[in-house]
Amino acid sequence: MKSQPATRLRACRACGKQFEYPLKGSNASRHHCAECVELPEDFRKIAERLSSRIQKLELQLKQAARPTDEHSAAVPK
Ligand SMILES: [Zn+2]
Repeated sequence: MKSQPATRLRACRACGKQFEYPLKGSNASRHHCAECVELPEDFRKIAERLSSRIQKLELQLKQAARPTDEHSAAVPK
């Protein structure tokens, strides 16, 4: 795989998609992928809000899935 030192992989704030930035011929901005950058700002703000909620939920799920000593010991299989 060829790596270009100038571009970096970024996660879109609105949809969570990973994209390379800056990419030649792409309109992507620093925080938004090429698709979301075309969205009206109001839409994008809603998408960003939902996206941050999803990220929080994912984090909570991961933490809930992580076995802790007290729980794993108490629950019989
Ligand atoms: Zn996006």
